[in-house]
Amino acid sequence: MSDKSQDILILKLLEETHAVLKGHFELSSGYHSSQYFQCAKLLQYPKYAELAAKLLTEKFDTDIDTVVGPALGGVIIGYEVGKAMDKKAIFTERKNGVMVLRRGFELEPKEKLIIIEDVITTAKSAIETTTVLESLGAKIVGYGCIVDRSCGKTDLDIKSLIQMEPVIYSPDNCPLCKQGSKPEKPGSRFK
Ligand code: ZN
Repeated sequence: MSDKSQDILILKLLEETHAVLKGHFELSSGYHSSQYFQCAKLLQYPKYAELAAKLLTEKFDTDIDTVVGPALGGVIIGYEVGKAMDKKAIFTERKNGVMVLRRGFELEPKEKLIIIEDVITTAKSAIETTTVLESLGAKIVGYGCIVDRSCGKTDLDIKSLIQMEPVIYSPDNCPLCKQGSKPEKPGSRFK
């Protein structure tokens, strides 16, 4: 599939599942935006999670041992990528704010891993996951996500299905507020 037709397909799925909404929103960070984005809305449909994983898998060398999905966002899509590649799929998680490998998951020395997330914005989780896994002797050979919102602001080589730049405004300088509309809180629209 070409990058262009893949972009169109993924955007269509994100809109269809209401993972992407257009309007005027007050985000949980307090910022306003013309776009609300929640990848879990796409992943609530296993057939779309499976499809996204298949498309992501095509971007990676299959010469890896294990797929790691940092919790929570990476768990579902990481598992699906592991399934599509027929590799082991594990996850890291935060304990008291620190990314760790728990649950008895074990790594071989020099085990080749890819890190998969639903969304990468600041890449904080991906970087912290890299640090913990490398400290255990593993080798990180790639990063992937469904939606890349990092806009090239990280040093990681991220493979994604679509790139979407977040557009955020501080509430006192929001052009949508200035046009007279009131922001809605994400999630309130469909109640
Ligand atoms: Zn506003």
